[in-house]
Amino acid sequence: MTPLGEKLAARIRANGPITIADYMAACLGDPEHGYYLAREPFGRGGDFVTAPEVSQMFGELIGAWTVAVWEAMSAPASFVLAELGPGRGTLMSDLMRTARLRPAFVEAAQIHLVETSPRLRAIQAETLAAALIAPTWHEHIDDLPAGPLIVVANEFFDALPIRQFVRTATGWAERMIGLDDAGALAFGLRPAPPPPGFGNDVAEGAIVETAPAATAVMATLAGRIAAGGGAGLFIDYGYPGPAVGDTFQAVRRHQYDDPLAAPGEADLTAHVDFGTLGETARSVGARTRPLLSQGAFLARLGLSERATSLARGKDATTGEALERAVERLASPTGMGEIFKVLAVSAPGLALAVFDADDPEKA
Ligand code: SAH
Repeated sequence: MTPLGEKLAARIRANGPITIADYMAACLGDPEHGYYLAREPFGRGGDFVTAPEVSQMFGELIGAWTVAVWEAMSAPASFVLAELGPGRGTLMSDLMRTARLRPAFVEAAQIHLVETSPRLRAIQAETLAAALIAPTWHEHIDDLPAGPLIVVANEFFDALPIRQFVRTATGWAERMIGLDDAGALAFGLRPAPPPPGFGNDVAEGAIVETAPAATAVMATLAGRIAAGGGAGLFIDYGYPGPAVGDTFQAVRRHQYDDPLAAPGEADLTAHVDFGTLGETARSVGARTRPLLSQGAFLARLGLSERATSLARGKDATTGEALERAVERLASPTGMGEIFKVLAVSAPGLALAVFDADDPEKA
């Protein structure tokens, strides 16, 4: 068992089984052994590669989108540009490089990062210092300063803890993590009320996931955007809802693994329920747009044109690498279909890409 596994087993022996949310929070965020605090998850040597790490084009295009949104907001002289879970800081660094084309935007942007891992904060500081950016960090979105807000997040919501409920023959139960006879971590069930929005008419065996932390984050951000102006762009692998099915998964060294096998040493995620996130945003007065696939979003922002312009005057190897990056980011066999983009805005704000009649002009 991993050191965190031992710690969790002791906790379960003392206090009884824990929810999947408690388990996920400990595996990712335990101050001593948590995955994001102790490991280097990103890149070829890590456990997975995220879109900003695939190519600079990802952050650059989001930069173009962000500048367009700021202009649609009538170019406020000061606004909060926030990123949630910035990883290595690559997306923000690429975004701001594109934004330099509009010096007034750079002047107006107060950059705030929400990041819990001190280890990743140090890496973000280093990446951004190289781009002459000095951001402010926060533990929690509640600490973001007031004012108009543009917020972006890539692969953030999938890391927030979920709970799972199962419809059994005798009613609903929550999936818990306890210990088996041999003392190993094992799934079990505890009777529970039906999850919100579900009744007893659901087929036996069905699993429903809820993401209370993600819902709370969206309610706060969308409420601020609705009241103070601005927009949010949330990119993740997920589904339009409803949240039926087991999507709790572990990835370790680019392979799927049993989520209970190596607590603290594998990345744990769940697919994002964009249906519920969108509903939450609308319920606090923000406006949402129909989900776009990552492939469609990037294509409308001019991904292939950007690749062509980066390849100009470069050797064939560079050109091929750019082509591969385009494929990986935007094709259905890469990240293009499974990753989705949810856009949220203040009620009166038009959003580049999402509200353009002619996608080519967005
Ligand atoms: N956006 C980056 C990293 C994605 S990994 C990229 O695309 O490469 C998830 C990120 O969210 C990490 O930076 C992790 O430390 C951070 N994170 C996870 N849970 C968090 C929480 N509850 N609050 C703030 N940051 C969190």
